[in-house]
Amino acid sequence: MQTNHIEALKNPIFDIISKAAQELSVDAYVIGGFVRDYLLQRGTPKDIDIVAIGSGIELAKKVAKNLPGSSEVSVFKNFGTAMVRYHEIEIEFVGARKESYHRDSRKPVVENGSLDDDQKRRDFTINALAISLNKNDYGTLLDPFDGLSDLSKQIIRTPLEPGITYSDDPLRMMRAIRFATQLNFIIHPSSLQAIADNKDRIKIISNERIVDELNKILSSPKPSVGFSLLHTTGLLSYIMPELVALEGIEEIEGQSHKDNFWHTLEVVDNIAENTDNLWLRWAALLHDIGKAPTKRFDKKVGWTFHGHEFLGAKMVYKLFKRLRLPLNDKMKFVQKMVLMSSRPIVLSQKYITDSAVRRLVFDAGDHVEDLMTLCEADITTKNPKRQKKYKNNFLIVRQKIEEVEERDHVRNFQPPVSGEEIMSTFNLKPSKEIGIIKDAIKEAILEGDIPNEYEAAHLFMLQKGKELGLSSK
Ligand code: ATP
Ligand code: MG
Repeated sequence: MQTNHIEALKNPIFDIISKAAQELSVDAYVIGGFVRDYLLQRGTPKDIDIVAIGSGIELAKKVAKNLPGSSEVSVFKNFGTAMVRYHEIEIEFVGARKESYHRDSRKPVVENGSLDDDQKRRDFTINALAISLNKNDYGTLLDPFDGLSDLSKQIIRTPLEPGITYSDDPLRMMRAIRFATQLNFIIHPSSLQAIADNKDRIKIISNERIVDELNKILSSPKPSVGFSLLHTTGLLSYIMPELVALEGIEEIEGQSHKDNFWHTLEVVDNIAENTDNLWLRWAALLHDIGKAPTKRFDKKVGWTFHGHEFLGAKMVYKLFKRLRLPLNDKMKFVQKMVLMSSRPIVLSQKYITDSAVRRLVFDAGDHVEDLMTLCEADITTKNPKRQKKYKNNFLIVRQKIEEVEERDHVRNFQPPVSGEEIMSTFNLKPSKEIGIIKDAIKEAILEGDIPNEYEAAHLFMLQKGKELGLSSK
């Protein structure tokens, strides 16, 4: 059945493209993500894909020429595509193509093709939907693989035999899992099996592309959908074996520990409810990463993971480097969150002193709220009583942080007495005594021995200098 979807083409750009195509006597269609997201009513699109039965580049040039004002065309000759920007939207033009693949590359041999050929080379039936921009059937939906029905059944399915589709371009395995996560769709069982069968083909995909998909999975409302699929298909063992190593429960002498892999996925889902910060979500994913290599059994205390935060922070660097994630302040932030991930818990387990809170705020700096968000997400106990208790404890920690910060301002600690002043007071050249005195002042403030003020710190400095046998001017 052919259905008309002219209301999808409200944006004036479609009329402009349609006329340009007519002038060139080529057929043109809007295809892929735009059509899918329109049918799913997923809000305004960031990009539009147009397929021309002929040269996509020529059509792009014509469209740019016909646009009011001057528009530039970016031509990607190697790919046979061209891009025109219209307001905030990127419009990508491509000529319809027929593709065949070699085993060792995801770069196909490309020939010109029909719309049907082009739809066959698309990754999923829901991404192969096209709407005509041609005068005779403007607005008609062309759906050779029943993508519409898959949209309503919420299924990710490949237009052709899944084994071939995934083996040809293994990035599609990541894309299948990513779309399943973003859209909350099911991957068709034969597709899922084909992904598992072809998992080792992921090796030919660059880390940058894998990370693009991982970031989209992590940015979804329920990232565990994706990570659990990556795990069950076996892909995760190639991408992040450190995470897979967290799976499993061991029991010795009747004592067991929790399964830290599935726990981690719960933590990521929890944090996704409270933050859109991708890097904080990464921190949640990696917060227990050091637990596999530090796991020990001690006859007296049971299972321990001593130093897992410290080792975990080191592993963050290695993992970021390997996956070609940025090694900048984002990585440092994730490291810091992992390193500090147990601090608020330890703090909340005993009587909360002001000095402990000051130290936490001092060490976490501007990231103290993010750290609390991570710790709250880390509560995955199914015991309602305990859950309530832990949440309440963290609430108290949050209140204390506010109180202490308002009074002591240690969040972005600036020493109230400068190194220069210490030098001039005791007539010192740069030396280790200056560091000792500065440190002692900081410690006294964090301990609460003196307030975070110039007068008190100055007095303290004089006294400390005396102790060190220094004479002041
Ligand atoms: P989004 O933009 O939300 O990520 P999208 O479906 O638009 O989703 P794009 O990467 O923009 O994804 O690709 C546009 C279209 O190109 C897809 O809808 C699909 O038809 C096709 N496509 C993209 N990547 C592949 C691929 N690896 N294999 C086959 N077809 C693909
Ligand atoms: Mg797109």
